[in-house]
Amino acid sequence: MFNRRKFIKLSAAGASFAALAKSAVAKTLPITAEAGTRPVVISTWNFGVQANQGAWGVLKNGGRALDAVEAGVRITESDLTNHTVGPGGYPDRDGHVSLDACIMDDLGNCGSVAGMEFIDHPISVARLVMEKTPHVMLVGEGATQFAVQQGFKAHKLLTAESEKEWKKWLKTAKYSPVMNIENKNGMPGSEYNHDTIGMLALDAKGNLSGACTTSGMAWKMRGRVGDSPIIGAGLYVDNEVGGATSTGVGEEVIRNVGSFLVVELMRQGYTPEAACKEAVERIIKKKPEIAKQIQVGFLALNKKGEYGAYALQKGFTFAVCNNQKQDLTIPGKSAY
Ligand code: ASP
Repeated sequence: MFNRRKFIKLSAAGASFAALAKSAVAKTLPITAEAGTRPVVISTWNFGVQANQGAWGVLKNGGRALDAVEAGVRITESDLTNHTVGPGGYPDRDGHVSLDACIMDDLGNCGSVAGMEFIDHPISVARLVMEKTPHVMLVGEGATQFAVQQGFKAHKLLTAESEKEWKKWLKTAKYSPVMNIENKNGMPGSEYNHDTIGMLALDAKGNLSGACTTSGMAWKMRGRVGDSPIIGAGLYVDNEVGGATSTGVGEEVIRNVGSFLVVELMRQGYTPEAACKEAVERIIKKKPEIAKQIQVGFLALNKKGEYGAYALQKGFTFAVCNNQKQDLTIPGKSAY
């Protein structure tokens, strides 16, 4: 599992991950919109640090942003100790693990799966929906069927650990999305029941792509789909302007078509951070009482390689990786 103490800022351009592994120095910086380095990859939460390294493997060799974001978030999907993304995710209230993901490239192509069961890597299925079908989104059994046709292995996803937590939850069966409660290592505490990896990359050629993948809200109603697999809500990329992604209680992001809103605000000249802040403020304006009790965070990257984030509540972090910073985490500013 990702360990915050291994965070380090590497200043030498092109410094290797071997050097990174040797370091034990933590480094976080105040949020800034930095101009102009590319390639660059950013992603939500502390687990984004590891994911960014997967993306960096593609970007540093001149690879395409689309390949980078898929490779990056697959790392998070593969971590069975992560209970909010991929097959290690907590199930719905009936014990089914169902996964949501979407991907969008620099040409405006996009693909998505929602409520997909039995398959390990929803982001790769989403990419195949984009590339091999005339559709944008496949859901439920249809998504699983398509994945199997494409060679993915179907198997039961509920891990022993997730099953244990679900059985514990069943004793009260109380559903209430909580804010992110993190322990002193910056990792999820026991009351933690949601979070998504949203990733945005700008490659050496100046093209953008994004990916977003989650197991959704723990203990959700069967069939519930959040913002993460919905193009425009959980993720949006416009190669002329920038990209945005979100994490937190998806219902409020969907109501405001959050990621599309952030990109459109950047088109009007907002910095990435200002655009994310405005999107958060829309949520507060429309539902002030709900906004106080939940977490939503937006993350954005523009065509120049500037990035920024803003969240409803404290505790939101994001990870940045470029030639100067291989594993930087930045605490996002927040409304409350
Ligand atoms: N946005 C995700 C959902 O609503 C959960 C999260 O990112 O915390 O499913």
